[in-house]
Amino acid sequence: MTENVQSLTELLDRASSRRFLETQPAEDLGLAENLAFPFLALVGQDEMRLALLLSLVNPNIGGVLLIGPRGTGKTTAVRGLTDLLPDVARSRCTYGCLAEDIETDGIDAVCPDCAKLYAEGKPLTYSDRVRLLELPLNARLEDVIGGLDERAAVHNRLRLKRGILARADQNILYVDEVNLLEDDIVDAILDAAALGSYSVNRGALAATYRARFVLIGSMNPEEGRLRPQILDRFGLRVILRGLQDPEERLEAYRRSIAFRTNARRVVQEYAHSTAVAREELIEARQALRNVRLSPEAEGSGLQLVRDLGVDSLRAELTLFEAARAYAVADGRTEAVSEDIATVAAMSLRLRRSAFLQDYFTTQEEEREELDRLLGRFGNGDPEQTKSSETEASEPE
Ligand SMILES: [Zn+2]
Repeated sequence: MTENVQSLTELLDRASSRRFLETQPAEDLGLAENLAFPFLALVGQDEMRLALLLSLVNPNIGGVLLIGPRGTGKTTAVRGLTDLLPDVARSRCTYGCLAEDIETDGIDAVCPDCAKLYAEGKPLTYSDRVRLLELPLNARLEDVIGGLDERAAVHNRLRLKRGILARADQNILYVDEVNLLEDDIVDAILDAAALGSYSVNRGALAATYRARFVLIGSMNPEEGRLRPQILDRFGLRVILRGLQDPEERLEAYRRSIAFRTNARRVVQEYAHSTAVAREELIEARQALRNVRLSPEAEGSGLQLVRDLGVDSLRAELTLFEAARAYAVADGRTEAVSEDIATVAAMSLRLRRSAFLQDYFTTQEEEREELDRLLGRFGNGDPEQTKSSETEASEPE
């Protein structure tokens, strides 16, 4: 990290405690549609801001689920994220061909057009900003994963159309109200997010698309539940409430009005901090591979998961990856027990399955009862015990 620049975590703390100018001229009304409210200008909701930031630092965390009622700033926060991300290299081709495909799998790994470009020494990609894709609530599975291209079909050509997941590659995918989506759509999104790619088969046509995106879901618990299996597949889970501190509420109100009145001015106000944060994020992402967990951090993490009675292995995965991301965002190369403690709640909450808890408790009780019953058949010889098992289970 550069020495005169604060760490990402410090930057977050500083930005949200900064006060706005008192006077806001009423001009430039209506600009807000094109500009996002700066992420660093959000007030409060520390856990949400931290979770979102960590998910940008370390893709292994596996996305974020924001749980809370309306008006808690979920969508505003997510929309502000793209300004924090550096530009990416995007394929010029509808098939998503990249030079790295040729480097790993040879020239046949790309389409003829791209093979020609490559041979001529021309780039297959261009530099583009990261975008936010918001999944529409009425999206069908075909929109999400892609399907037959109707326009091509008119000309008697069979071609596959890229779906939302393919377009989300190297972008942020925001699934608002994820609990209201059909199960098959949620499964397709989660599978693609976990693998970073997905395949579509339509008769003779088949295609595999890259889908390396940061997944952010949100849900309002007043509007329905989410299957426990789905809850477990989001890396971090943040529970939001409205701001409790009157000072914070007032400040949030002021910033919101300032943004509505003159969005450009607010964006400019935070332009420098945002640029610094973007640079820090690039450095943090690069430095992440060198961040280790201390043995104490590993031990305390495993103990925590065991004490909580969480069965899913995703618990440790998220906990440790989030702790590494936090350490690097704080400018360190070792994640320690304090980092585990900082990210524990967002990594581990809502992972205990009530069904599995009951299931294992019942199993244990049954096992104890069996042992007790089997104890009647004398002690010691396991062979004898085993052969008596069938008799023991018969009603007397
Ligand atoms: Zn191509």
